[in-house]
Amino acid sequence: MSQAMYRSRIARALPNILERVQRAAEQSDRSLEDITLIAVTKSHPVSAILEALKFEVFDLGENRILELMAKQEAVTNDRIRWHMIGHLQSRKIPSVLGTVHLIHSIDSLKLANRLSTKAIQVGGREQVLLQINASREATKGGFVVPDMYEDLHSALSLPGLKVAGFMTMAPLTEDVRILRNTFRTVRELQQELSDSSESAGEVLSMGMSNDFEIAIEEGSTMIRLGTALFGKPV
Ligand SMILES: *Cc1c(COP(=O)(O)O)cnc(C)c1O
Repeated sequence: MSQAMYRSRIARALPNILERVQRAAEQSDRSLEDITLIAVTKSHPVSAILEALKFEVFDLGENRILELMAKQEAVTNDRIRWHMIGHLQSRKIPSVLGTVHLIHSIDSLKLANRLSTKAIQVGGREQVLLQINASREATKGGFVVPDMYEDLHSALSLPGLKVAGFMTMAPLTEDVRILRNTFRTVRELQQELSDSSESAGEVLSMGMSNDFEIAIEEGSTMIRLGTALFGKPV
């Protein structure tokens, strides 16, 4: 797609998305401002990012480190907040450390440990979300609950991490009950952990193009939208 095509696509899609976000937010006694919209630009060119920025969308999500790095180099704008939303391989940690606003996809205690150690080595604390596998799908990464409670507690107390909250991906289904249940499980987990000693932050990164309204109704504070904003990944 050309840059002009991205412009007209976003111009058409964004007002509708914001209206739907607002309506869903009101269902959970919140407002549009309480929800962060992350534009998932994976597989879309830099021109898509440039257009998103014109619409004041400054939170950008990528799922692969090489693509993230290339785009970070191509687009320099102080207002951008980069989000790493895909699986992070341990050996890629040095490439992402300190370069993004938030890593959503800390999906194992092993990865959490390694990231914490590296962050301490460079004298910082990395802001992350712990990825929860609430639907217990074998093909999905993340902390399975309730089985991995101990791992979760360990990850929450690592000195090199600042755990801002949790992220989840719902199963690929149209079944609203299953989707709602998945999101609710993660919200309840967050509430439960906030009563314990090592509490995480308030962020809940839940909801993609096909399920963001349900996610918001269930308490999501960050939605990750690719297709709804830019069309199908190319
Ligand atoms: C691709 C991706 C999204 C966006 O998906 P859409 O259905 O296109 O909105 C959100 N989160 C993650 C982790 C992704 O990889």
